[in-house]
Amino acid sequence: MAHTLSDSRPELQARVSAFGGRQAIAPEVERLRLPLSNAFFLGEPGQPWVLVDAGTPGSARLIMRAAQARYGAGTRPQAIVLTHGHLDHIGGLWGLLRHWPDVPVYAHSLELPYLTGKSAYPPPDPTVGGSMSALSPLFVPGPFDFRPQIRPLDELTLPSALSGWTFITTPGHSPGHVSLWREADRVLLAGDAFVTTVQERVTGALTLRPRLVHRPPAYYTPDWDQARTSVQRLAALEPALAVTGHGDPVGGHELRDELRRLAQNFDEVARPVQGRYATHSPTTTTSGVVSLPPLSPRGQILRAGLILVAGAAVFQQVRRWLS
Ligand SMILES: [Zn+2]
Ligand SMILES: [Zn+2]
Repeated sequence: MAHTLSDSRPELQARVSAFGGRQAIAPEVERLRLPLSNAFFLGEPGQPWVLVDAGTPGSARLIMRAAQARYGAGTRPQAIVLTHGHLDHIGGLWGLLRHWPDVPVYAHSLELPYLTGKSAYPPPDPTVGGSMSALSPLFVPGPFDFRPQIRPLDELTLPSALSGWTFITTPGHSPGHVSLWREADRVLLAGDAFVTTVQERVTGALTLRPRLVHRPPAYYTPDWDQARTSVQRLAALEPALAVTGHGDPVGGHELRDELRRLAQNFDEVARPVQGRYATHSPTTTTSGVVSLPPLSPRGQILRAGLILVAGAAVFQQVRRWLS
């Protein structure tokens, strides 16, 4: 199956609304923009399909509604595949699996400790700069538990909707992060191995502006050596079109040039100059996190302050409900 893509495809120029929506990306690929992250339908309408990633918490209804609009009432995917298990990519899973209890969910085996209740991800680092980073201690790092549906990716017998796709291991942002690659038309679903907006800022995360090839979300990336290797691996593919976990699709020369620039200058332009994981990475095994670099005093103060503010907000809300 040979597809061709040109930079002038009208659907690539079309933008989904700021509040979400569906966008045709390439043959058999549709992007579903969810609050703060993207998910993907692989498979044409009327055909078997696969869901890639599951959005932020509360996204289940949006995903179900979009799936029904594309594939018809009562539809269910052949499988759900996760690029990784951070909360902004699995948030809809609880609701989806209540509707689709027999649908298997696949993630790389090195993600499984965090998705089978064994371990939390390395905690986010609020000290890497940016308003979203400062809020990141509020993002729950797990552990999450999706047994019995969760399975290791190497047990996946490629369903028809994934024909032509290969998985590329792209760790760094998370220990078992994977990207999806379709050689026939050089389409890349890169998860958070890199993204196309400045995710460390609330404005970037919400508006997806500016659109550019950007490092993986820094507050949640604990291994920058691995992250660099992963970006270099993806740049070497010379994708024609990339869609990432956050941001709009990028293609053509813009993608090729910016991805090459990021890969070649990763330590200068991507690695945080300061922060918990800037020079030291956590030790992780197939059981999860074994040890973590310490959080700086500034990070501890930031985290404590945020937890106080969040606690006060919850307290106020509960008081309002009870009065
Ligand atoms: Zn992530
Ligand atoms: Zn993400």
